[in-house]
Amino acid sequence: MEMFRSPLLLSSKHHKEVLLQPLFEPYGVQLIIPDGFDTDAFGTFCGAIPRAEGAKHTVKEKCLAGMAHANQNQGLASEGSFGAHPSFPFLTMNEEWLVFIDLKQDLEIYGHSTTLEVCYAQLGYQEKEQLQSFLDNCSFGSQALIFKDRKSGELIKKGIQDLASLKQLMKKHPEWQLETDLRAHLNPLRQKNIIAAGRDLLKRMESRCPKCKKPDFSVTQYSGKLLCSWCQKPTDSFAFLESNCAYCNYQIIEKRMDKEVEEPQYCNHCNP
Ligand SMILES: [Zn+2]
Ligand SMILES: [Zn+2]
Repeated sequence: MEMFRSPLLLSSKHHKEVLLQPLFEPYGVQLIIPDGFDTDAFGTFCGAIPRAEGAKHTVKEKCLAGMAHANQNQGLASEGSFGAHPSFPFLTMNEEWLVFIDLKQDLEIYGHSTTLEVCYAQLGYQEKEQLQSFLDNCSFGSQALIFKDRKSGELIKKGIQDLASLKQLMKKHPEWQLETDLRAHLNPLRQKNIIAAGRDLLKRMESRCPKCKKPDFSVTQYSGKLLCSWCQKPTDSFAFLESNCAYCNYQIIEKRMDKEVEEPQYCNHCNP
């Protein structure tokens, strides 16, 4: 793929280049981290610097800032967040973004992945009889913990991965609060999702517009109405997939392949 130059800048810390390098290997691209660029200015997970905007916005800002810092017109950046699932607020969702920006070719392509398979948990000293199951459930060791003093709310230590240091801290601060460390290099489930976002980005890079050959030619809209198999009236189910090019507006409209008609159970006339 002539789209990427090597080495390619990845504005990130926490060893994300190690996670993503295998995906870029087949393209002959070496990922590099900008020297002396502090991504923590864009917000951190332990609440020290609140993130001002959503993760998609932040990843773009971070990418452009890293490119400016390293004097590059091409770059990648990665950004993730944890929060309530939009439809099931009692579930925690991890959302990861990876953006590729090329100022010369006017490209801004986003890879994205969400998962409910997360390691995002807390435990306070009042529940200390649950400590062992908490540690087992979050695979303590490969998954690191953050130690806080519950009374003062003070953050005592991040990145704890061994039981001896944990026990030592608990002795010193009997009113403790444990939280899973959400930084990528200390959170194996997050690493999995970052790789998924990387795969999504590369898939989009390879899906070119048939007319102008720019990337990210994909289904952006659903249209038409399938007819009910029983009464033949239109239902609310879509009939066509529309792929649109964001650069030249070229459009392809295809019939959906999975069904030709809709079941009466989804028909407003047969099953009001
Ligand atoms: Zn096009
Ligand atoms: Zn019907």
